[in-house]
Amino acid sequence: MTDPLFSVADQVVVVSGGSRGIGKAIAGEFARRDARVIITSRNAETLAAAATELSTGKHPVAFRVCDVADPDASAALIASLAADLGRIDTLVNVAGINVRKRAEAYTVAEYDSILNTNLRGLFFMAQAAGKQMLRQKSGSIINIDSLNTNSPLRGVLPYAISKAGVSMLTRGLAAEWGEYGVRVNAIAPGFILTDLTRKLWSDPTMQAWGNENTPLKRLGEVGDLTGSAIYLASKASAYMTGQVLYVDGGISAGTRWPIDLGNTDHR
Ligand code: NAP
Repeated sequence: MTDPLFSVADQVVVVSGGSRGIGKAIAGEFARRDARVIITSRNAETLAAAATELSTGKHPVAFRVCDVADPDASAALIASLAADLGRIDTLVNVAGINVRKRAEAYTVAEYDSILNTNLRGLFFMAQAAGKQMLRQKSGSIINIDSLNTNSPLRGVLPYAISKAGVSMLTRGLAAEWGEYGVRVNAIAPGFILTDLTRKLWSDPTMQAWGNENTPLKRLGEVGDLTGSAIYLASKASAYMTGQVLYVDGGISAGTRWPIDLGNTDHR
């Protein structure tokens, strides 16, 4: 892992929601590339197991319990890490939740918990890390967005609203902080198999639809997202900020339709 263009070695990298799924995979790739990784979530037991499993590089992976829905907890976490380690080079804002139902059925508590985690939580974690990055005049913030950002899927409206906010927040922070050396970008995953989605995609009808409508003809794996995160944290993306990188097997590129295109001999 010595390629200086893509190196993240010795960077201090905080991954919120790093105990499972997408966050865990991203944290593992940073650790493997010798970054100093700290994973966070609400559950100490899951975090401890993940930290042990992911400690494959130069620095052991550390963990801290932090509920991103509590902005004071995020501020305290970042302040204590900055005091201990001297800097925060990269924040990967992954923590997120979803509740699937018809728009008319959401309770206020469900709406609030989704928005308070996915959008308010992400904003205040970015603010806390951003304050430290502004002081050190460098840093990269990577927000996990969604393909719901531009066109909401049916049955996940508060989630889609939160992710549209993440796109706006990404552009807004990039515009404000660029002159101080702080870059802010997002990754918008497509359909990725994790705890959040596994039940949904185990339905054969859903699986067939997902495979058929994704140009790359398969659902995504968590490992499909790690390269983009490394890229956005490294020198390779030094002139890139305020962007949403879609990593979705091409699903946002266009809609398939059952038009007859005649001869398909080339297939
Ligand atoms: P996941 O497997 O359910 O993992 C979610 C992670 O976030 C866990 O580590 C969880 O740990 C943590 N978390 C949840 N609420 C939290 C809170 N309030 N404070 C701190 N940590 C919290 O989900 P995933 O599929 O990897 O999703 C991760 C992110 O990717 C989410 O933002 C999601 O919207 C986004 N995304 C996923 C997909 C997909 O298809 N899977 C597609 C597009 C975008 P605890 O529950 O133990 O706290």
